Amino acid sequence: MNTKKKYIKTTIILIAALLLLSFGITSCSSEEEEFDLVQQSRFALGTYNQVTVYATEELANEVIDGIFDRVAEIENAMSLNVADSEINQLNEARGEAFVTVSEDTFKLLKRGKEVAEETDGAFNIGIGQLIALWDISGDDPQVPPEEEIDTLFGHFDLNQLELREDTLEARINDPMMTIDLGGIAKGYAVDEAIKVAKDYGIEHAIIDFGGDVYVLGGNPNGNEWRIGITNPIIGEGGVVARIFSSDMSIVSSGDYERYFIENDRRYHHILDPETGFPADNELNSVTIVSDTALDGDIYSTAIFVMGLDKGLAFIESLDSIEGALITKDNDVYVSSGLSERFEMMNESFHWVNE
Ligand code: FAD
Ligand code: MG
Repeated sequence: MNTKKKYIKTTIILIAALLLLSFGITSCSSEEEEFDLVQQSRFALGTYNQVTVYATEELANEVIDGIFDRVAEIENAMSLNVADSEINQLNEARGEAFVTVSEDTFKLLKRGKEVAEETDGAFNIGIGQLIALWDISGDDPQVPPEEEIDTLFGHFDLNQLELREDTLEARINDPMMTIDLGGIAKGYAVDEAIKVAKDYGIEHAIIDFGGDVYVLGGNPNGNEWRIGITNPIIGEGGVVARIFSSDMSIVSSGDYERYFIENDRRYHHILDPETGFPADNELNSVTIVSDTALDGDIYSTAIFVMGLDKGLAFIESLDSIEGALITKDNDVYVSSGLSERFEMMNESFHWVNE
């Protein structure tokens, strides 16, 4: 008989706790300005989204409402769980018609096509059918029969996603292919949230959407923020290390975030488009530090699929990202540009390439 359990864990609570520890919950002040620390968490994008803003309470609340209005726009356009979302319309019209989409959606479709090439197919927004088959975030996840997975191979080709930039139209030419922006849209939402905050003149804020984090400015006390990397070992809790950060994004992907257990085996939500199964290599967590959370969201997932050697080489090949990779043996590998702002916090883990 199958035994099955489903888990969805977000890293947010841990990060929130860590942030509170690192900058305290009382209001802060600089020489000229008084700030309140205003923090709100709201559910959207299938996860808890925490916004921390330093401003007067009145302004902060206005900013936070503005941020969540923007998140709702993105979710309504891109979610598979919103019946008439643009992505659902696009998927339903596959093999048939062009669909007009918003600039937001178009941007991500375009970036999705580019990044599939750049990552040699490790990150592929065209594996919607495969993700739906596993249904790891759904009510009834289960290991699909291999024959069903096999029928999908050959239908992840993003050349079949046709884009017309001048009219913001998109069409999926392959009737067997669907798009899923679950690995890219949350990062985009974080970046857009930061834009809203900046538009209001906010200088210090932290956006944490289900573990996709951006820190705006530094801590009002004049120090950098210290953002923890969640311990990927299920049941242990705590952090592995911390990263000193300001004006940057820190995003982690791992096998501990969303998964189910069937017949004593754990199946997580990051799928390897080559095998059709959850990526299974040395890694259990990838953290990417970058200028945008969009990059962080994409590359943390892509590198998780690539595995340790290829993933580390990939990070070193790009100037725009740095990263920390954690293996199932508790080894930590830090990219060359990150080591100065990286600090181990857990003796069970070993920084191998220090
Ligand atoms: P990441 O590693 O960043 O992404 C993993 C996700 O990307 C997977 O869950 C899958 O969707 C996709 N993916 C897996 N493998 C690959 C690959 N090789 N290449 C490209 N993409 C891949 N969750 C709910 O439970 N209910 C909801 O209603 C819901 N609505 C959402 C609406 C939007 C607009 C978005 C962006 C997300 C929503 N989610 C929802 C959450 C979503 O299902 C994912 O769990 C989440 O986005 C994964 O983020 P992550 O950072 O944990 O993992
Ligand atoms: Mg992500």
